[in-house]
Amino acid sequence: MRTYTGVLDVPAGLPVSELDTPTLVIDLDAMERNVEQMAAFAAAHGVLWRPHAKMHKCAALARHLIEAGASGCCVQKVAEAQAMAAGGVTDIYISNEVLAHSKLKRLVALAAQLHASGGRLAVAADSVLAVEALAGHVRQHEQYQGPAPVDVLVEFNIGQNRAGVQTASEVLMLAQTVSDVPSLRFAGLHAYHGGAQHIESAVERHAVMQQAYAKVHEVVQVLRAHGLDVVTVTGAGTGTFALEAASGLYTELQPGSFLLMDAHYACVQPAAQQPVFEQALFVKTQVVSRATHHAVVDAGHKSHAIDSGLPMVWNGGAQVQYGFGNGGDEHGLITALAGAELPALGDVLWLVPGHCDPTINLHDAMVGLRGGLLHGVVERVFQVDARGALW
Ligand code: PLP
Ligand code: MN
Repeated sequence: MRTYTGVLDVPAGLPVSELDTPTLVIDLDAMERNVEQMAAFAAAHGVLWRPHAKMHKCAALARHLIEAGASGCCVQKVAEAQAMAAGGVTDIYISNEVLAHSKLKRLVALAAQLHASGGRLAVAADSVLAVEALAGHVRQHEQYQGPAPVDVLVEFNIGQNRAGVQTASEVLMLAQTVSDVPSLRFAGLHAYHGGAQHIESAVERHAVMQQAYAKVHEVVQVLRAHGLDVVTVTGAGTGTFALEAASGLYTELQPGSFLLMDAHYACVQPAAQQPVFEQALFVKTQVVSRATHHAVVDAGHKSHAIDSGLPMVWNGGAQVQYGFGNGGDEHGLITALAGAELPALGDVLWLVPGHCDPTINLHDAMVGLRGGLLHGVVERVFQVDARGALW
C-alpha cells in the first residue's frame, strides 16, 4: 500500500512559484490551442481523429479530446484500455497485436462492458493465430450475443517494418478470416508508419509516405473487389497526419504527441498546410548546485526520457544547454555558451522533454497550469492513470 501521494496533493490555485521541483507540468493554454488546431484541421479535411492515449495515459485528457470532437482514443495495451475505460472513455481502439490468453480474456471482458453501455472496443491483428484466439475468447464469454461486438482492424506494413502483414493477398486472407467469425467484425485497415513520423525534412517525409499510400490504395482496392467493406482506414502520427488526410485514403487519424509536443517534434519540419503545435509539456526544475562552469538542476533522467535526445531549456535561449555529462538519474548539468550567463543557485529552469510519451510514464501526475509558466497558477492535477500499464 503506497502512502506517499506526492504531487497529487498540489492544490488548485497554488502559484507556479510555489510548485515543487522536479514536477511535470502542462501549460493548459498551449495544450488547448493545440486541441483546437487539430479539431479544426480534422473538420476541414472531413476525417475522424482518434488521438493516441499511449502518449498522455490520462483518462481525463482522453475525455477532454473527445469533448473537443475526437471519435475516441487509441491505446497500445489492454491495460491502458482498461485504465481509459475506468476513467469514463467508451470508444477505444487497441492499435496493437494482442495474442496472449491472459490479455484476450481481459480484452473480451472489457469489450462486453463497453458494448453493454453503448461503447465500443476495437483491436488490431496481423495473424490468423491472434484472430482465432480472440474468436475463441469471444465465444467463451457468455455475455456475447447479437451483432459483432469486437471490431478487428488488419494491420498492414506500409514501410515501418514493425508489425503488420506484408501483402495485399495476406490482408485479404486475414480480413476474410475475421469476417467468417460471427462475433467479430472486419472493420478495416490499420496502416501506420512510425518510422516516418520523426523524419525531420518535410520533403523526405512526404516521399516516404507517398510510397506507403500507394500500398494502402492497392490493398483497399483488392478488399473492395472481394466484397469486403473497408469502413475504417486508420493511421498517422504527429509527423505525417496532414499527409494521410490529404491522401484521401484514410478515414481516421491517430496522432498523440501534438497535444503536448516535445523537443524532438520541435525539430520535425511541419508539412505544408499543417498546423504548428506549441510546446505544452515541461519539467519545472531548480538549480541546486553551482560550479564555475556549470549549474546542476534537480531533474535527471528519472524526470524525463532521453531516448530521443536531451531536453531543451525553454527559458535559457539558445545559449544555455542541458547536458548529461556527469549528471545522471537525479541531476542535470547546465552549461552556457562562451559569453552567456549561467543560471544562479536557486533559479528555476523549464525543460522541454526530448520525448513526451516515455517522459509521462515516469510520473504519477502532471500539474495543469493556467496563465503561463512565469505567473500561472495550478488549475488541476492530471493523474497518469495508465502509468506502467504495459501488459
Ligand atoms: N499510432 C500508433 C500505432 C503509434 O504507435 C503511435 C506512436 O508511436 C501513434 C499513433 C502516435 O504518434 P505520435 O505520438 O508521434 O503522434
Ligand atoms: Mn512518441
